[in-house]
Amino acid sequence: MSADARPVLRVTDLDVHYRRGTGRLHALRGASLTVAPGETVGVIGETGSGKSTLARAVLGLVRPSGGRIEIAGGDVTGHSTRQWRALRRRGVLQYVFQDPLRSLDPDLTVAESLIEPLLVQGRPRREATELARAYLDRVHLDEELLHRLPGELSGGQRQRVAVARALVTDPELIILDEPVSALDSANRVRALELLKQLRDSGAALVFISHDLGSVAGIADRIAVLYQGRVVETAPARELVNAPRHPYTRLLVSSAPTLSSAAGDRARREALRELLHV
Ligand code: ADP
Ligand code: MG
Repeated sequence: MSADARPVLRVTDLDVHYRRGTGRLHALRGASLTVAPGETVGVIGETGSGKSTLARAVLGLVRPSGGRIEIAGGDVTGHSTRQWRALRRRGVLQYVFQDPLRSLDPDLTVAESLIEPLLVQGRPRREATELARAYLDRVHLDEELLHRLPGELSGGQRQRVAVARALVTDPELIILDEPVSALDSANRVRALELLKQLRDSGAALVFISHDLGSVAGIADRIAVLYQGRVVETAPARELVNAPRHPYTRLLVSSAPTLSSAAGDRARREALRELLHV
């Protein structure tokens, strides 16, 4: 990955406001993030820090009030709803959300969910059907599920279908918003294996989670979102071993699988510093 490779995603100084009663809520405050081709970037932060808002903005599901979004070299900031829909349907970027029912159209069978984006890409139906079967197999699901609706599947099965659907168009970028949080621990381990498979597909991944532990093992770089701002971005190991921002230090010292004997002291110090920031 050379430094001058065209990023697959570049988010610059992004602002998003939501209407809240009579006022406005500033959910993203100048957030920036760059993702290189094939790179896996983790985005971590506590509930309400703006992670899902960032995901939705990058997918064209919420309109920013400022800043810039470039996807695969093209400026998409000013895209209309229709242009965004066309971009999503082309399959260049894909997504898996926490609730797989939201990643999948509840009215489409598994087969239709997998085949439709391929037809949009101009593949013949026969080839699309074969690919759908192959991808279902890749996520270890039985062919007999092809004719079921998402509502007739278990949570774990649904998430696998969502992963297969995200992979089938051979996207450049996949946004994963808390893809494993809603699963029980057995399914979570399997889902993390699926994430490795996603990464090995060659697509760039943005892997969003509130849990540093589940991101640290899979991401090349990690961005820390705090109150709508990316306060630190660093290679995963560096971020875990030498966190710079007090909030990152707090996250590192609070992650059960990462914390050391010095965790408690580090946490107290980070908290003290944060309260003064
Ligand atoms: P995260 O995914 O990190 O938990 P979100 O992006 O969902 O954070 O939310 C960021 C902030 O924006 C929160 O304060 C949340 O309550 C608010 N928010 C999110 N979605 C909406 C919405 N549709 N309308 C109003 N406020 C929202
Ligand atoms: Mg969220």
